[in-house]
Amino acid sequence: MSEPVDLLVHGGDVLTVDDAGSVVREGAVAVRDGEIIAAGPTGELRARYAAEEEIDAGGCLVLPGLVNAHTHLAMTLLRGSADDVTLQGFLERVLRQEAELLSPEHVAAGVRAAVAESVRAGVTSALDMYWFHEAAERVALEAGWRLLAGPTFMDVPDSPDGRAYGERMEWARRDLAARSGERPGFRPVVFAHSAYTLSPDQLIGIAALAREFGALLHLHAAENATEVATVEARYGRRPVELLDQLGVLGPDVLLAHAVDLTGPEIAALARTGTAVAHCPVSNLKLGCGIAPVPRLLDAGVTVGLGTDGAVSSNTLDVFDAMRQAALVHKAAGDPTAVAAEQAVRMATIEGARALGLGDRLGSLEAGKRADMIVLDLGRPHLRPRHDVWATLAYAAHSADVRDTVVDGRILMRDRVLTTLDEAVALAELEAVG
Ligand SMILES: [Zn+2]
Repeated sequence: MSEPVDLLVHGGDVLTVDDAGSVVREGAVAVRDGEIIAAGPTGELRARYAAEEEIDAGGCLVLPGLVNAHTHLAMTLLRGSADDVTLQGFLERVLRQEAELLSPEHVAAGVRAAVAESVRAGVTSALDMYWFHEAAERVALEAGWRLLAGPTFMDVPDSPDGRAYGERMEWARRDLAARSGERPGFRPVVFAHSAYTLSPDQLIGIAALAREFGALLHLHAAENATEVATVEARYGRRPVELLDQLGVLGPDVLLAHAVDLTGPEIAALARTGTAVAHCPVSNLKLGCGIAPVPRLLDAGVTVGLGTDGAVSSNTLDVFDAMRQAALVHKAAGDPTAVAAEQAVRMATIEGARALGLGDRLGSLEAGKRADMIVLDLGRPHLRPRHDVWATLAYAAHSADVRDTVVDGRILMRDRVLTTLDEAVALAELEAVG
């Protein structure tokens, strides 16, 4: 008598991204109630389970969905509007546009298109720092996609949501209080934009709020030398040094970028268990520099990958970030820096750990949420396949993703989106602005 399951993905090689780096040849993954209940040989799982729905992954590679550990999804609205400028030039332009353009409806349109783009690219979850996060979360829920969002703090004069800074703490508290009993594979998040848009006192208060609710605290930090000089001139400390001194860093904190770091700052991240979202494409395009990822990894810091928003990196393609992460650190002369397997882990399990969700996401193992993708290996650029990690890090493109599954639900089958009307999403995006 076989046990019923909701979904069986079978016949493909399964890259589990477990600690041992196991690949199950002709493997299968069984899913019930959005959770992986088994991953193993197809023959065994077929004998044990009767599936309501199946994906035949013969000739394909099945792997965990990619985790975008730092983005601003609704910035798809502004894609192509602030290119080839410095970070500070970018911020000046974008903050002005956002103050004029943003509303819950516009954010929803931007996020809908961003989710379509992400599902197509095999990205199954994202940490999304942006205004009007309630609208973003509604869109993601409708699409069945894993978007982690929450209240954002940024003390700017023209806040797009029109909320005065003084009201934000109570608003955020209400938001977080309403999240008790969060769905599996989600967690509350509090976003503090940065040490240059928030004062030390504000940062202390926001970190205390996040800790009160067991939330992840996510900030931008040390993105380039100008930011570091600005913070240092104001407070006499570099950004990461300041965050450490204020008691903000910790195992529940994720910093985006972390490009301009000193040795003691790297040690502080390791000592406090603070994680980093590495955004190589955005850093290169804005001329910010190259984050010291090999040194962070050597120090034991958890490093995930982010695309950043679609204005600074222009796509939400984590395959692209993975490839850049695997290449850019080698430029200093060491071809072993960020090896292929490390880059793939950063895009999957390490990204999940950076979000504090490593026990629920990032690998294909029993007990984890069923976020996975099926990659078509039938294309010339993916043959022959001597090393599956190298295939993924150096040769695969996001367009090779055939099927995308989030929480056991198929969001893309044979390159067709099943929960989003892509034509409508793009028309809505084009209609804004
Ligand atoms: Zn960012």
